[in-house]
Amino acid sequence: MVRGVIPRQPAKTGRHEGARKALSRPKITPAKTKPEVRPGAKRKAPKPASGKPPAGYNPVAPERVREILRRLDERYPGVTCALTHRSAWELLVSTILSAQCTDARVNMVTPVIFARYPTAADFARLKPEQLEPEIRSTGFFRNKSRSIVGAARAVVERHGGQVPATMEELLEIPGVARKTANVVLGTWFRKAVGVVVDTHVLRISRRLELTRNDDPQKIEQDLMKAIPQEKWIEFSHQIIHHGRALCVARTPKCADCPLETLCHAADKTWSTVEVHKAARP
Ligand code: SF4
Repeated sequence: MVRGVIPRQPAKTGRHEGARKALSRPKITPAKTKPEVRPGAKRKAPKPASGKPPAGYNPVAPERVREILRRLDERYPGVTCALTHRSAWELLVSTILSAQCTDARVNMVTPVIFARYPTAADFARLKPEQLEPEIRSTGFFRNKSRSIVGAARAVVERHGGQVPATMEELLEIPGVARKTANVVLGTWFRKAVGVVVDTHVLRISRRLELTRNDDPQKIEQDLMKAIPQEKWIEFSHQIIHHGRALCVARTPKCADCPLETLCHAADKTWSTVEVHKAARP
């Protein structure tokens, strides 16, 4: 090195040449591919453009629905109802208890009550007030208690203690609406009479544009049209699992979702595809 010539050093103030250049670099638009993420680093989602679906876009086109079902099968093979039960009656009671309550909580309560009252006839002999303290932790315990005792009496008086296996008969039982009836028919009797529409199915069907309705009965009708009947039972179980694992109500985990490239939900947290304003829960 020539004496007296000192190589340029970055100024301590940070106002050196390189820094200026770096500041004036043009912005790079994020690539629309899943980024490499360092373990533990927070993923930053690109801001998806929102808009109307392109002309001719059909969210319930058979090939799109088939692909959704295929990916659900791949991610959630063999999933079933998370409510612990040993009979149609136990499943009926558990489903009534699961309204506005987690399955885990219901599964903590039911072993105790089924040990104390093993059959529908045992429940039928109770006054609703007697059951209330035992199911209190599941919430709405007064209504649920009335429904369970009323259901038990109907099952004993009209069906000889056996839960009936048709939608019409189930809907006649106090506390049983279509959702509960579909759970019992699909999970216990393996009868695909309808599609279970709970809070997860409602939210995700709307995000996936399988329905535009927000009334559960209309959503069920839309799903029954869009999804082949042989997949009705499995679809509900898979979507319920998906709603718990990834497609949660707030901040869904879209970057990890197997349906990401097929989903145009307006409230996605990560998107590699155009989002649609109307596709929201
Ligand atoms: S991409 Fe996001 S919003 Fe769409 S289904 Fe998956 S988790 Fe839900």
